[in-house]
Amino acid sequence: MKPIIFDTSDGQQLRINMISPWFRRHYAELGLDSPAKIVKLSLDGGFTCPNRDGSKGTGGCLFCSESGSGDMASYAVSDITEALDGQIRLLSDKWPSDKYHVKYLAYFQSYTNTYAPVDELRAKFEAALEAPDVVGIAIATRPDCIPDDVLDLLSELNKRTFLWVELGLQTIHDSTAEAMNLCHGRADYDDAVRRLTSRGIRVVTHLILGLPGESREMMLESVRYTCSSISTSIDPDSSSPRRIFGLKLHMLNVVRGSGMAAAMPDYVPFDSMEEYIDLLITALELVPPEITLHRISGDAPRATLIAPEWSYKKRTILNNIHKEMRRRDTWQGRFAETSDGPVKSVFY
Ligand code: SF4
Repeated sequence: MKPIIFDTSDGQQLRINMISPWFRRHYAELGLDSPAKIVKLSLDGGFTCPNRDGSKGTGGCLFCSESGSGDMASYAVSDITEALDGQIRLLSDKWPSDKYHVKYLAYFQSYTNTYAPVDELRAKFEAALEAPDVVGIAIATRPDCIPDDVLDLLSELNKRTFLWVELGLQTIHDSTAEAMNLCHGRADYDDAVRRLTSRGIRVVTHLILGLPGESREMMLESVRYTCSSISTSIDPDSSSPRRIFGLKLHMLNVVRGSGMAAAMPDYVPFDSMEEYIDLLITALELVPPEITLHRISGDAPRATLIAPEWSYKKRTILNNIHKEMRRRDTWQGRFAETSDGPVKSVFY
């Protein structure tokens, strides 16, 4: 196994394969001018969600905030261009191009970004890729929402740009999925991962820690399962990824306006920040080092957050995670199961 290198270029020894340093290494390995920073531009593509419009369910997943649901289905391509231009203009004040080398990833984040006719999807994704300095695209969706014509489009985009598809799995336990009204389950996820990876498309899996009814062991099972090797029955000899590309882990945030806030107003996912950090580090030790981490904390706005009340302190949480990992002298993948022997981690 090629040892993973945990980047220290920001002056801090990282023990987690976070996506930002990964990008720097990726560009360097390709022999390209390494952009100093890849910034994700979050986009609302004007899609809705099959778990809100009745085709899969109504009311949405219990943790999902209801703002804007389904009322922007006619969002135009020009809105995408305008939204990107506006964000790039704002960010160029923060990182002026004469001082920083910044490139962008268009991130279709809101709702289900593959839930539309394929021609509409193509027009919106192409519009995003045409924006200046956009070098790739990230698409968040549900695992049960990638029909074959959409998969063909994603595959085509994947051949000419940097792409990942983010699948909102949240848990591998169907009993929890049902209780949270996800209206999809583990089988949908398995199918989506096999079909995407068989086309060489990077998958980022989104898991939520602290869902009601889940024990610590159940959450760790979700992490182990999603990080294990993928058997791509469609083309087992291809160079398809053998694992997911990335993982997004964070605590459940109960927010105002969500189904959770109405159904379980007193539910608090973790008793303390320390309890969350302990679980997160145990989870990270199970994640093979080549898997990139895209999030390790929540980022609900303070104004809408109900519980856990400390979860808006993102900087503190992140600092405490890194500090605690150094104190324990541990790292991502320390206890990961790999078929290639023990995990070797190299720091520089
Ligand atoms: S979390 Fe995603 S899949 Fe669930 S209701 Fe919200 S937009 Fe739909």
